[in-house]
Amino acid sequence: MQNLTLPTYADVVAAARRIAGHAHRTPVITSRTVDAEFGAQVFFKCENLQRMGAFKFRGAYNALSQFDAQQRRAGVVAFSSGNHAQAIALSAQLLGIPATIIMPHDAPAAKIAATRGYGGNVVLYDRYTQDREQIGRELAEQQGMTLIPPYDHAHVIAGQGTAAMELFEEVGQLDAFFVCLGGGGLLAGSALATRALSPACKLYGVEPEAGNDGQQSFRSGQIVHIDTPKTIADGAQTQHLGNLTFPIIRRDVDDVLTVSDAQLVERMGFAASRLKLVIEPTGCLGFAAALQMKEQLRGKRVGILISGGNVDMPRFCELLGGQAR
Ligand SMILES: *Cc1c(COP(=O)(O)O)cnc(C)c1O
Repeated sequence: MQNLTLPTYADVVAAARRIAGHAHRTPVITSRTVDAEFGAQVFFKCENLQRMGAFKFRGAYNALSQFDAQQRRAGVVAFSSGNHAQAIALSAQLLGIPATIIMPHDAPAAKIAATRGYGGNVVLYDRYTQDREQIGRELAEQQGMTLIPPYDHAHVIAGQGTAAMELFEEVGQLDAFFVCLGGGGLLAGSALATRALSPACKLYGVEPEAGNDGQQSFRSGQIVHIDTPKTIADGAQTQHLGNLTFPIIRRDVDDVLTVSDAQLVERMGFAASRLKLVIEPTGCLGFAAALQMKEQLRGKRVGILISGGNVDMPRFCELLGGQAR
């Protein structure tokens, strides 16, 4: 049975102490060009510049640093083809904990190599014939390993909330804040920090249009499940929110918005050429939604969480190729 005690802002504060000196305190970037485009004051919290290239290091390190001696010896297991895999592998390496990462055999070679590079023991499975959750459960049961899920875990949510906490500490209260949404670990953690540090701020989760399960769930009041959506935002291809992330999002978030893949590509190009930032497609969700709402944001103080920057360069160029100006 999953423990359904929801994390609180006090857990975010405790997480910030645990990750201090291990995670980067990422920069907050401003741009006169963006401020002029929006007619507003815009602050970007740059988690693409976090260790291993995404905010997920925060939650992974916060979770693993709370393992007891027995858990440390037996190790951690995670299944992921993306940033969670690298976050767990790197955190485990830093803490001297063995890590097993279960990845699909057709995951991008660069991601498999990066996970191995951080010392992770990669177990490949066939995503068409094998059940990764069963493989993970077997490893956890037979070898006593602790499974850390990518978003639906109180320690992961609290860790992810530290990015928003740092943003508010640095720039003060905001009128609106845009956060990328997959399974909701980042948004739920950000919500805890927002309600504590900038209570009146409008908080928006942003999903790819093709996978709006979070929007459907938020608006209907029940967790909606969908098929794996087809979108370039691979970090937000989740099929449903979590049992911990959903109630926090439902309670503390103002709305869930969606944007198209074309809007993501346009913002990726803008960020690269104007802000000198490499952002992965998922990392642009908040930026694209803010632009879509810019009439309502005029004269306001706006926060945008850039969640990650892990995109293969050939893929980046391919996506922007159709965009060249
Ligand atoms: C995982 C991830 C997300 C989505 O985070 P959730 O906690 O699953 O909502 C967004 N952006 C990037 C870059 C990610 O790696």
